[in-house]
Amino acid sequence: MLRISKKELLSRILYQSGLLRLTAGLGNGGITILTYHRIREGGYSGACPFDEDVFGPTQSCFEQQMKWLKRNATVLSETELLEVIDKPETCPQHRYALVTFDDGYRDNYDLAYPVLKTHAIPALFFVCPRLLDERRLGWWDLIAYLIKQSPKQEIELRGETLGLSEQKISSMRKLQSWMKTLPAAETANLVEALSAASGVAVPPRDLQSKELMTWDQVMEVSHNGVTIGSHTHTHRVLATLDEEGQRWELRESKAALERRLGREVRTIAYPAGRHGNFTLATMRIARECGYLGAFSFHSGGNRLRAINAFDIHRIAATDSCNPMFMCGVIRPGIFA
Ligand SMILES: [Zn+2]
Repeated sequence: MLRISKKELLSRILYQSGLLRLTAGLGNGGITILTYHRIREGGYSGACPFDEDVFGPTQSCFEQQMKWLKRNATVLSETELLEVIDKPETCPQHRYALVTFDDGYRDNYDLAYPVLKTHAIPALFFVCPRLLDERRLGWWDLIAYLIKQSPKQEIELRGETLGLSEQKISSMRKLQSWMKTLPAAETANLVEALSAASGVAVPPRDLQSKELMTWDQVMEVSHNGVTIGSHTHTHRVLATLDEEGQRWELRESKAALERRLGREVRTIAYPAGRHGNFTLATMRIARECGYLGAFSFHSGGNRLRAINAFDIHRIAATDSCNPMFMCGVIRPGIFA
C-alpha cells in the first residue's frame, strides 16, 4: 500500500483543488526567483567526487516544477525582469517568477536546458568566464574532492586540526566557510595547502572539465531562451575582497562574456550571495561597471514595487518533486 504523510496528502489536495492560488508564496505583485545549481539524472546514485550539496532535483522533478511554475506564474526573461524593475507601475499585479542557474555546470546544458526548451521557459545562467576558460571547478568542489579522497584521519591547516574520519562533512563546511568569510588574500592558496595536507592531488583538469559547460554549449543556450549573466570572473566571494579586487571580478567577467557572446551582459549574481557575502560597495561597483541588475541568494521574495536592482532577492529551489515545496506553503519561512 502506498503510504503518504498527512502533510503530503494535504498538499496534494490543496494543489489539485486550486486552493494553492490562495496560499502560495507566489502572491500577486510578487516576483519569486528560483536558484538552481545542479540537476541530477534520474536514478543518480549520489557517488559524485565533488560537492553533493549543490545538487538539486532530478531532471523529471525539475520538469514537474517547471510545468507547475508555468501554470501558476508568469515566468520572466532577464529583459522582462529589468523592465518590471524599471517601470513597476506599468506592470499588472501578476504572480511572477524567474528561473536561474549558477556556476555553469554541464548538467545545466544536458538536463535542465532540454526541459526549459521544451516548455519554452526563459532562464538565466550565471557563469564565471575564467573558470570556464581554464576548465576549473570552483573552490567548494575542489575542497569537497580533496577531503573525500583523503586517507588521513586528521590534518592541520591555519593552525587548526580538522578531523577527516567521522568529521569529513563538518571539516569540508568549515573550509568552505573560510573561503566565504576570511580576507581573500588569506585563502588564495587554501586549495593547494589542503592538497598538500590531505595527501591528495588536485583533480586532473579533464575530470574538472567534464563537470562544466563548454563555451559552445553556453553559446547554444544563449541563442535559445537562456540569458547568460556574470557570476564574477573566478567566483571569489566579493565581501572578502577590497574594492579594487571586486571591481576586477565584475569588470573582467562582463568584458570576457561580452567578447564571447557578442552582446551586452546586463546582470550578475553575487557568489555565495547572502547579505554578508557582498557589501554596499559591491552594489555601487556593480552599477559603476555597467550592470543593470544584481542578484543575491537566500534573500527571499521580491515585492514588485520595492525591488532594489542591485539586491534582487532569490531563494533556493527545492529538490522535491512536489511543487508545493517551491512556493513556501510547507516551508513558509522560505519567503522571510
Ligand atoms: Zn556560485
